[in-house]
Amino acid sequence: MAAGIAKTPIHALSHGSNEFFLVAIIIAKQSPRTISMKSDGSSRSVWNFTLRDSPAHYINVSFWGSPEFMENMARTFHIGDIVDIVKAKATYARDQDANFMPNVTSPLVLRMSEGISEMCLHTEQDCAELVRLLRLPTRPIEARVTLADIHHNSQALQGKYVNLLVVVSSVGAVRQINTKRERQIECREVEMMDNSCATCLTLQIWDSEVIYQADNWKRRETVLFIADVKLDWNNYRKRICAAVTGRTVITENPDCPEAIQQRNHARTAPTVAVAILDHLATNFADPASISTVMSCNTVYSKAVSGEFGDSFTALVYAAVIEFDLDGIYPLTATKCLQCQQLVDDSVGLCMNSECPVSSGLERPVTERIFDLRVSLADHTGSLDKCRMSSSAAAHMLNCTPDDFDLMSLDAKTALKWQYLFHRCASRLVILPATNNRHSPLLSIVAIEKVSLTEYAEKLPMY
Ligand SMILES: [Zn+2]
Repeated sequence: MAAGIAKTPIHALSHGSNEFFLVAIIIAKQSPRTISMKSDGSSRSVWNFTLRDSPAHYINVSFWGSPEFMENMARTFHIGDIVDIVKAKATYARDQDANFMPNVTSPLVLRMSEGISEMCLHTEQDCAELVRLLRLPTRPIEARVTLADIHHNSQALQGKYVNLLVVVSSVGAVRQINTKRERQIECREVEMMDNSCATCLTLQIWDSEVIYQADNWKRRETVLFIADVKLDWNNYRKRICAAVTGRTVITENPDCPEAIQQRNHARTAPTVAVAILDHLATNFADPASISTVMSCNTVYSKAVSGEFGDSFTALVYAAVIEFDLDGIYPLTATKCLQCQQLVDDSVGLCMNSECPVSSGLERPVTERIFDLRVSLADHTGSLDKCRMSSSAAAHMLNCTPDDFDLMSLDAKTALKWQYLFHRCASRLVILPATNNRHSPLLSIVAIEKVSLTEYAEKLPMY
């Protein structure tokens, strides 16, 4: 290193410092932006990135130079590189910097210029502790919102920046998009999940560094703490989406117990809609808590309106108009308890390629369940082929799936007439239709016969 300048940590820098060198790890990085100079028509580029050298200290850097030079620098250095910085100047960050750069702990920003400042990879093996900083989130892990919060408050959260702790559910291919100015840019979408709800959130990435970083993300395995992701309504998808901006910092596999919890949940959480609904219905703690009365028509309208990304519940007073207990279709099935999907009884093993059982990671555990459909109708309309949760069916029929299989046809017919064309109170969990799921899914989690008096009292007008 040059004589006369000392290695200085980020926390010891002050406004005007320039006689120092710094060793730190890159934790965030953006693509360079090119700005046309009004004075002489030339262009200059600025490349922003973020350095960290201790758990509590991180700082933004603005590196200025010719467009070619800055492109080259940005291609050379990546998130996770430990770098030596020489001849940078520390100055107070300006308020407008906050719009383009991550929120950091240092009140300063390092300004660097082509031809004056130097940046190179740190070659000595004396910085193991810096590598660990890559797994420390830049915000308190508690300062986050869940995907359920986002889907339930999507109106209020439009345009807001939030922090997320999520697991990668799927990583899309890199797409080339033509902009209005006939420039080609790259875009990649990543679906994210967490343990708060069954609906994923799409993360849109336009930044080449993060697009490249996402190559290493593994579905249902990589946990991300994302600081300052921007939420916006997506007109095409008709739902709220998140986008990586210049302010965003992504911490991969953060080192905290909450991340382990999320990963454990993601490994076995169902992703197929039917399995999600079944999982919701089976784990519905207290069906009696479902008390919002709705007519069949209201349930159906809400379920197809596109306003509700996540599930909702309803108490419906309606008659059972279809209940095919003595038909030709099997009404019991075997379910894989790892992925919640049905197992083909002739094979006996879960064949879902995404299930940890089929990849040999988990031992097969199955359960016999009821697989019943019921149609309901009131004066406003009908709800056709609602699934019935296995426990609701067992309660209604007062037997287990195995008992049911052994029953005579006459006994099944008699059982059917105990409910068919009777007025019932049904408690439902509904997964509304989305762009990917054209019809809503309905599951009855509890059903009981009601008297005419109660029915007439509770039945809504519309
Ligand atoms: Zn399975």
